Amino acid sequence: VDAGSDGEEDSVRVVVRIRPPNDLETNRKDKVITQCPGQGALWVDTSTSGGRPKQFTFDGVFGAETTQYQMFENCGIKKLLDMALDGYACTAFAFGQTGSGKTHTITGPMTMTRTPRAVPTNSGEEATAFGFEDDTVQDAEYQGLIQRAFLYLFDSIGQRKRRDPSTVYTLRATYLEIYNEQVKDLLNPADRSNLPVRWSKEQGFYVENLFCPEFETIDDIMAVLEEGMHNRHVGSHNLNEHSSRSHTMLTLNIDSEMADPDDDSMYITKHGKICFVDLAGSEKVKESKSAGDALVETTNINKSLLTLGNCISALSDPKKRGGHIPFRDSKLTKLLSDSLGGTGVTLMVACISPSAYNGSETMNTLRYAVRAKRI
Ligand code: ADP
Ligand code: MG
Repeated sequence: VDAGSDGEEDSVRVVVRIRPPNDLETNRKDKVITQCPGQGALWVDTSTSGGRPKQFTFDGVFGAETTQYQMFENCGIKKLLDMALDGYACTAFAFGQTGSGKTHTITGPMTMTRTPRAVPTNSGEEATAFGFEDDTVQDAEYQGLIQRAFLYLFDSIGQRKRRDPSTVYTLRATYLEIYNEQVKDLLNPADRSNLPVRWSKEQGFYVENLFCPEFETIDDIMAVLEEGMHNRHVGSHNLNEHSSRSHTMLTLNIDSEMADPDDDSMYITKHGKICFVDLAGSEKVKESKSAGDALVETTNINKSLLTLGNCISALSDPKKRGGHIPFRDSKLTKLLSDSLGGTGVTLMVACISPSAYNGSETMNTLRYAVRAKRI
């Protein structure tokens, strides 16, 4: 594990995670082109495509051997969680091509051990679905940044309350998906409508009618998360296609109230939040594979990812930071505008494959990451 520079003062922290070679890459005996020599350095051998060796430096580079535990401990997310508890808006997102480990990093793998069963549908016909009661199994060891963040937050809140018993925390969560520029509530699957994104002076951009349950225990929030993860799988005809084209965003709102140390009769209130975003796959979609609906989808996804890149790049330029940031150009960036443009910290986890076969997508991902790091 290489945590690189501490990057404490940076408003954007960029780390890279290299996943282990998968079975296909191993069987094919793909050349491994990534190397992490330490100090946040990453070397990429691009000789297969006729390029010269490329060197990068990030706030951290995590090799294939990195465990989920080590990732949480060292990627810098704790800083964001502490800030969210202190009333800042922070965002952590994973990006990279499909299959690079984004979902593994953010939520960890879901093991669908459940057997398909027949469920009634609105039309009265029976459809096959995975029963929710049987429950999805997730080995604690494989839990991703979100679950570990929940545990960390509950622990920190406990410590803070012991230090100052007057403190009251209120936790609320939302979990949504943006697919084809349409917003769906993952916590309210009965409502399959495209929820409107609105703006108000008090809230900034927000999603109307989004279910926002309050929870008090770690079990409650884990159940909320599992339900959202489960719903992500429901209602998509082609799971892989759907998950590679959608962005999912879990937001935790942390409101706190505590006695003012300078005046016992006064209360200080804070509104912090942390967003975890599992972005759509960043791969270039082959034109020949896109037709009709599929073409619309890829255009929209590219628009969101492109806009996100443009926003981050504008924010990273001191001359542009105070000026116009194109948040309004996509739903994703609208919803991230307060945390990206505010005083909180953003953590970007660039996920890459180690294989030469994915070399050009890996280079794309790293270029995107470098662009953000100018901040
Ligand atoms: P993405 O969300 O970027 O499309 P996934 O997170 O679904 O990619 O990862 C693709 C596959 O690789 C999954 O089977 C996942 O469990 C596995 N995988 C990804 N990263 C790791 C890792 N660091 N260690 C072990 N397996 C991984
Ligand atoms: Mg995924």
